[in-house]
Amino acid sequence: MSFLEYAPAPESRAILSLKPEYGLFIDGDFRPGTGDPFATISPADESHIATIASASEADVDTAVAAARRAFDRTWSKMSGRDRGKYLFRIARLVQERARELAVAESIDNGKPIKESRDVDVPLVAAWFFYYAGWADKLDYAGLGSDPKPLGVAGQVIPWNFPLLMLAWKIAPALAAGNTVVIKPAETTPLSALIFAEILQQADLPPGVVNIVTGAGATGAAIVRHQDVNKVAFTGSTAVGREIAKAVAGTEKRLTLELGGKAANIVFEDAPIDQAIEGIVNGIFFNQGHVCCAGSRLLVQESIHDEVVDRLKDRLSTLRLGDPLDKNTDIGAINSREQLDRIRELSRIGEEEGAERWSADCVIPDNGFWFAPTIFTNVQASHRIARDEIFGPVLSVLTFRTPGEAIEKANNTPYGLSAGVWSDKGSRILAVADRLRAGVVWANTFNRFDPASPFGGYKESGYGREGGRHGLAAYLKGSR
Ligand code: NAD
Repeated sequence: MSFLEYAPAPESRAILSLKPEYGLFIDGDFRPGTGDPFATISPADESHIATIASASEADVDTAVAAARRAFDRTWSKMSGRDRGKYLFRIARLVQERARELAVAESIDNGKPIKESRDVDVPLVAAWFFYYAGWADKLDYAGLGSDPKPLGVAGQVIPWNFPLLMLAWKIAPALAAGNTVVIKPAETTPLSALIFAEILQQADLPPGVVNIVTGAGATGAAIVRHQDVNKVAFTGSTAVGREIAKAVAGTEKRLTLELGGKAANIVFEDAPIDQAIEGIVNGIFFNQGHVCCAGSRLLVQESIHDEVVDRLKDRLSTLRLGDPLDKNTDIGAINSREQLDRIRELSRIGEEEGAERWSADCVIPDNGFWFAPTIFTNVQASHRIARDEIFGPVLSVLTFRTPGEAIEKANNTPYGLSAGVWSDKGSRILAVADRLRAGVVWANTFNRFDPASPFGGYKESGYGREGGRHGLAAYLKGSR
């Protein structure tokens, strides 16, 4: 037993007033879906949270028609200043209901409350505030004078940052004057449905945002719908590929934010204390369910043993358990399916000869859990060095020279993010310049800001979200 035991400090669920059933949010109101309803469960204990409507192709059609009407009659006619007022109002309501949203997100997704409370929800509000500010300044965004919205945006998002991904999609689309049909992931629809209530509270004109729940088939119906002008997808590279094929040859605009296998490069002159924290944050934040996670640690050979020993010490102090407990560092894996994938890739890692170490934590009896794990002796050819595990698993590789570090970092079909740790600014700049990744963090990792564009190279997708670039993806005549 550790000499520093914590008493349980669970956040109260009393702030939530969930409905037993949720319909589809179309044209400003909730209505039943015509597909088979499904349950959303808590991954921490597998308990039932609510029954969720599933949108059929006909429901998607109704949602797109509502979005088209709202685009033609109200939203595209409204001044940017007025659109901005709605976005500011939404941002403030998100802040007002922040605790409720954080609790809902942690229950439905499994992420620790300290992350949903201190990272996800504040960033959601920040995204709406940021794009609210752009709504009346589109002429000055460097995208030509008087840029025009595209029309109806069809958006499909994943389960790892449910509400934050929704904000990344909806805020720039609305600021630019588009209307939206969005589908949250089937394992995490809850916060999007509470967000629908916020839209009602904000008095957003009906049809400007429509939220349709359901599985992949509902997403495919949005993507293929004839009257959708823009498709924005965040999710796996496999599904992204299917979507690219479905959209090819049409007039639709497309942005894809897909998977990653980021290198986090630590040079021997790096500030080691900060680097250890950065490595931990890079891969164990949000249980490693992060597209830009630093899942490949590239550490200079001379400091390999020290870094690995210190990482193991640090991981032994992380607390795994109840996502609603304010002391929890590692929450639940989002679904049984994802847990199976993490287990399978970890098994293959051992089979291929890498050395596995897992933190010694008590795994709860129910729910989906995976202890923070490090693989050493990893070769670049191993599956755990190539495939996205999307879980709390770090693969450690070594290098001797900056050239070798760059070559190994770029030796991946992905290219979403990377990290560089060094005491020398000139080395950081020189290395960052040669990394084929959309985002490169220097002496930090997993930092997000609405003003900063985010997106990938190669199989990590194309297009950028965030900043002025994020607006360009929703305006005509600019890309
Ligand atoms: P996924 O691709 O399985 O699902 C994502 C969404 O697509 C879900 O809403 C799903 O219902 C829907 N979908 C599934 N099949 C579809 C189809 N044929 N047509 C249209 N929609 C379909 O991905 P996931 O497992 O939910 O999410 C994890 C993946 O997302 C990881 O690979 C991760 O790297 C990636 N991701 C990327 C970013 C980024 O910004 N680049 C951010 C978060 C997550």
